[in-house]
Amino acid sequence: MCAKPAKKAVHAKAAAKAKQAKYVYFFGANQSEGDVSMKALLGGKGANLADMAGLGLPVPPGFTITTEACAKYYEIGEKALHALIRAEVLDALKRLEKATGKMFGKGPNPLLVSVRSGAAASMPGMMDTVLNLGLNPDTVEAMIARTGNPRFVWDSYRRFIQMFGNVVLGVEHHEFEHELEAVKRTKGYTLDTELMAEDLQEVVARYRKMVKAVKGCDFPTDAMEQLTLGISAVFGSWNNPRAIKYRELNDIRGLLGTAVNVQAMVFGNSGSNSATGVAFTRDPSTGEHKYFYGEYLINAQGEDVVAGIRTPQQITLKGSREWAKARSITEAVRKAQYPSLEEAMPKVFKQLDAIRVKLERHYRDMQDLEFTIEDGKLYMLQTRNGKRTAAAAVKIATDLVKEKSIDEKTAVMRVEPSQLDQLLHPVFVKASEAKAKKITVGLPASPGAATGQIVFNAATAEQWAKEGKKVVLCRIETSPEDIGGMNVAAGILTARGGMTSHAAVVARGMGKCCVSGCGELHISYDKKTISCNKLVLKEGDWISLNGSTGAVYEGRVDTQDPKLTGPFAMIMALADKYRRMGVRTNADTPRDTAKAVEFGAEGIGLCRTEHMFFEGDRVTSFRRMILVAETVKCLRTSIAACTDAEERARLESELAAPLKQYNQALKELLPLQRKDFIGMFKALKGRPCTVRLLDPPLHEFLPQDAAGQAEMAKVMGVDVEHIRKVVESLHEANPMLGHRGCRLGISYPEVTEMQVRAICEAAAAVKGSQPEIMVPLVGNVKELVAQKALILKTMAEVEKAKKVKLHIKIGTMIEVPRAAVTADQISAEADFFSFGTNDLTQMTCAFSRDDAGKFLGDYVSRGFYDYDPFQVLDQEGVGRMVEIAMKYGRGVKPDLKVGVCGEHGGDPKTVAFCYKLGFDYVSCSPYRVPIARLAAAQAALRG
Ligand code: PEP
Ligand code: MG
Repeated sequence: MCAKPAKKAVHAKAAAKAKQAKYVYFFGANQSEGDVSMKALLGGKGANLADMAGLGLPVPPGFTITTEACAKYYEIGEKALHALIRAEVLDALKRLEKATGKMFGKGPNPLLVSVRSGAAASMPGMMDTVLNLGLNPDTVEAMIARTGNPRFVWDSYRRFIQMFGNVVLGVEHHEFEHELEAVKRTKGYTLDTELMAEDLQEVVARYRKMVKAVKGCDFPTDAMEQLTLGISAVFGSWNNPRAIKYRELNDIRGLLGTAVNVQAMVFGNSGSNSATGVAFTRDPSTGEHKYFYGEYLINAQGEDVVAGIRTPQQITLKGSREWAKARSITEAVRKAQYPSLEEAMPKVFKQLDAIRVKLERHYRDMQDLEFTIEDGKLYMLQTRNGKRTAAAAVKIATDLVKEKSIDEKTAVMRVEPSQLDQLLHPVFVKASEAKAKKITVGLPASPGAATGQIVFNAATAEQWAKEGKKVVLCRIETSPEDIGGMNVAAGILTARGGMTSHAAVVARGMGKCCVSGCGELHISYDKKTISCNKLVLKEGDWISLNGSTGAVYEGRVDTQDPKLTGPFAMIMALADKYRRMGVRTNADTPRDTAKAVEFGAEGIGLCRTEHMFFEGDRVTSFRRMILVAETVKCLRTSIAACTDAEERARLESELAAPLKQYNQALKELLPLQRKDFIGMFKALKGRPCTVRLLDPPLHEFLPQDAAGQAEMAKVMGVDVEHIRKVVESLHEANPMLGHRGCRLGISYPEVTEMQVRAICEAAAAVKGSQPEIMVPLVGNVKELVAQKALILKTMAEVEKAKKVKLHIKIGTMIEVPRAAVTADQISAEADFFSFGTNDLTQMTCAFSRDDAGKFLGDYVSRGFYDYDPFQVLDQEGVGRMVEIAMKYGRGVKPDLKVGVCGEHGGDPKTVAFCYKLGFDYVSCSPYRVPIARLAAAQAALRG
């Protein structure tokens, strides 16, 4: 596919060098040394540039310095790295000079280059770029003489000093803005475009003076020095805070670093016959491909399109007309001021459109393209698989199957499971939206609905979100520094910027609702206000965004659940076709059960019965039971041990009253539990339902504070002192390791009996129901044996009373390390295991579930753990425990049914791990069911 190196000698030389390691790969001019398979080494950008050149597309030539060189940069330091790669860089520069017929940093036709980052995983805008490198007073003169366009050349030099000064030398942006504004002010200009060649020359002089004042050294004029510094800066930007944060948020791991692409410059800012743009082969918001989606700017450089300072124009006529219609721009004004590329440069448009088709066919995926037109000639600067919303990912994957471009399995692999979350969340209720007061309309940059309180900067967004508030981050335009705030915000609103602005691109990647480019809004950071005509909103006021239409509303707008049909249903059906592992849900109410079934749950993997006791006034009956349970237990123990008949009679009469209350409370609870189970079994329509017996320590059901205890005493008509004493007696220093789980059922067997009776009677009442009874927190097989005997006895009683035959499996949770390492014994008594990875993590790592949050963030950021072990299973430690239990359990009972029901059941990495171990199912919260289904399918396809 790629062109071979020109001469055999090159091969020989390269082969000799290969022994040492090759750090520089040339591309373009029929000499590409890399290809698309070399993404890890050349980065996505470098590999695709080589690949595009190989396809015969117009790619300016250049060379890529590998990601291995980046790793070396961090290993041996900047100086040693340059010594290591210098000869290769010089060699590549020579080839570049030959290919372009220009000389780097000198001569009558000087070669300028761009220096760009490009890691194996795309990290848009997170690392550094320098354009126009090679400019200095001599090359400026030569270029003016050659182009006859001094304005363009001085503008390029101004841009270069600004970019290089900021990125490489670390001079703050505002220092440059200050100088530029000073020149504009003295000339009475408002727009940058009004600056003439002489003005720009003055800007350059001011910039150089300012850089010297700030940095204490001259701005470098030697092109080779500029290049060396530029390469270092790009390598250095791999570890800048925003790049680190981006990798963290997007779970990008295990890469060597970024590659550096040095490429011959082509100029989109060399006049009105030049332009630059970005485009997507399909709409990255919706996945539609009604037309070629993209934006461009005449007489501009790449950064102008994404910076959001000028309003970009549309590529196609159709897109341009829709764009104008949305902002009430007349056809005449559109045509005159914002013509599409199709109208302005029809020949180039045709060529670009053909390239769009070719690239999408080649990569069989939606492409994100960057192009530049220099004096009417088109150049391709980049192609990559475009970032997209979840809706677009699902639509594109399913459309490509229908178009026979990819097969079903590839489509399943194309959608990131955790991204599906975006599709499961609410959109605005139409009636509520219709009633809401619309403030303005911006660009529908990233779909969905968001309601939240206005904040104006990322730090406040993060602070308020921590306090549990829902916020909408409102910025004039966003920059990569805002990423933390964008991440926690419900939505993002910007006054400036197009569909490819930073805000739009990042929000789409995050699946966040975003409305960008609301030109009518005036955002004041100083006053902390947003004004639009006469309306003024302050920080903390509520605002609502519709990211699918661009509408911005004052106040809150009601939201509703999305529809799960169309492409979503298709991708889910494909996932189900290829997955081998079951997906159940954790649910405790008929409503949640119905929702989970709608999301595709194949049963309930965990019904936490205690949740049922908290509802409404049931807690009163439950509390009544707790208040006497301990008394009943103690008296019974005393009676059993008593040998004196008189004393025994006294104890028995003492027992009568609390026992009556105890039985009464259980009697009240029985029908309530039964009703819930009936509701859930009906909602499940024959799907299995694992019901876990009471698990949490009893003190959790009682108020711990005096006011709550007084209220409870009033409601129940009991003495508050009695309540206080019971609370005190139930107090434990470490309740998570205390009187909970099956230990409760052992102390209070009547509670187990009541629960089992409710389950069995509900099963008898609902035909086809499939309950499974699960005993929690077993650590010793004898606990299971004791509880199982009780369950079987109660089950037999119900069978007899109801004249039915029940087929109810009895199993246990594996959530105590002792259970895991004695799983062979436990397996002999159990029909199934369900791993309670929340407790298993707590007890294996000795991290308190309630308190570890205080330091776990630090542990993760320092790399002690790759992820929060309560979210992603710690495979190395807790996972080992799971493996041991599986081996022992299935060793005794090869067909033992095994699932997981901790929070990890909805995490794609854990799902893959469970699949590998041969689990029968994972169980997770209803909203994570589709994620788990897709993750299970991908795990099966990966094999
Ligand atoms: C677990 O420990 O993983 C579990 C599912 O139980 P709970 O979270 O209710 O303790
Ligand atoms: Mg547990």
